Amino acid sequence: MAPYAGDASKGFAAPAASTLTPQPADAASTFPPPAVAEQRDGLDRAPHETARGVDLWRFAEKLQAGRTLSENEWTALIEGRTPDLADRLFAQARAARDEVYGRTVYLRGLIELTSFCKNDCLYCGIRKSNRQARRYRMSVDEVLACCAQGYAQGLRTFVLQGGEDPWFAQDKIVTMVRSIREQHPDCAITLSLGEWPHDAYAAFRAAGADRFLLRHETADDSHYAMLHPASMSPDRHKACLFDLRRLGYQVGSGFMVGSPGQTARHLARDLAFLKKLNPHMIGIGPFVPHRHTAFRAEPAGSADLTLFLIGCLRLMLPRALIPATTALNSVDAQGRMRGLAAGANVLMPNLTPPQYRGSYDLYDGKATSGLEGVENIARLRRQLEEAGYQVPLARGDSAVAVERA
Ligand code: SAM
Repeated sequence: MAPYAGDASKGFAAPAASTLTPQPADAASTFPPPAVAEQRDGLDRAPHETARGVDLWRFAEKLQAGRTLSENEWTALIEGRTPDLADRLFAQARAARDEVYGRTVYLRGLIELTSFCKNDCLYCGIRKSNRQARRYRMSVDEVLACCAQGYAQGLRTFVLQGGEDPWFAQDKIVTMVRSIREQHPDCAITLSLGEWPHDAYAAFRAAGADRFLLRHETADDSHYAMLHPASMSPDRHKACLFDLRRLGYQVGSGFMVGSPGQTARHLARDLAFLKKLNPHMIGIGPFVPHRHTAFRAEPAGSADLTLFLIGCLRLMLPRALIPATTALNSVDAQGRMRGLAAGANVLMPNLTPPQYRGSYDLYDGKATSGLEGVENIARLRRQLEEAGYQVPLARGDSAVAVERA
């Protein structure tokens, strides 16, 4: 299969300004739109039809009504999307989000614990074979200080993310989670610490962890093998997600958009996999190359395609929590607000101490300052409130029901 060329090949214009500002929930009542008579692209077809005459509105309507599409339909929708189709899909996605969550944005404080990693994911700047990576790890006291700072700023979820660092053995993580749980009984504790055996996940859960983020990265096994060393198994990776679910975690998964070798069909499989998993949270963001990886010369994934997929995910799984991610904001200065306008409802300000932030260097140009940082959280809240969102002091649990073991 030819790698998916992304938006550049389609000559997309930036979405209309209307996608940057939230619209009233009933904006979606115009969906599907009346037949479009004008020929905006000079071709002998309406703008929502592909060159082969497939009416993509049919798929968009079907997604809206049935909350899913077949793999072929997803592929056609992704390949044939137009800015016009995307705008209307975003209006539907906002309406679906607002129906479940209202116009609420939940904030999570992201703490990047360690840049050591025993894994060697080919795309990642902190992969073990990057000898030039700057390595650090935070002490438990530093983590607790970050949580206290975040709490004072109104954050009620802490996300502890890191490379897979053997120093953070099971007992250290249990101790850390227990301490946070004791100090912040009203907060959610989210871990994003990679693959562990079932018993370790169970121990973290017993210590007080509520949620776990583990992107599946790609649901296609041969694509997974292109992105990871042979020692990493897609089956084991996916099995972790189902283990986490059975243990009663709120589970987050997701993938990179535009990763090397990715095709529209891979993305269709990602969507089908997420439909089956029905996760509580879904994080997607563009792949961005890192100068010290083999993928250094690969193009970054596009913001427009990431936004389109956020809209699709919202329509497919309306009860999921979906962040507008740092990677999206790193490739598009408006990524945060455009993500929300496409149906996202979570932002993750960075709580990592400034002296470490630059060393959690997953990809080039990662946004670490400005509204990305917890030090500017008051400005971030103001911007969100001015745009018509509420930003509660709340854990912001998922509306997807938690599965019990
Ligand atoms: N070790 C944990 C794990 O694998 O889930 C958490 C840390 S890992 C660095 C977090 C996420 O960063 C990965 O799931 C991956 O999707 C994302 N990531 C890594 N390299 C990236 C890149 N070059 N561009 C965009 N996202 C990247």
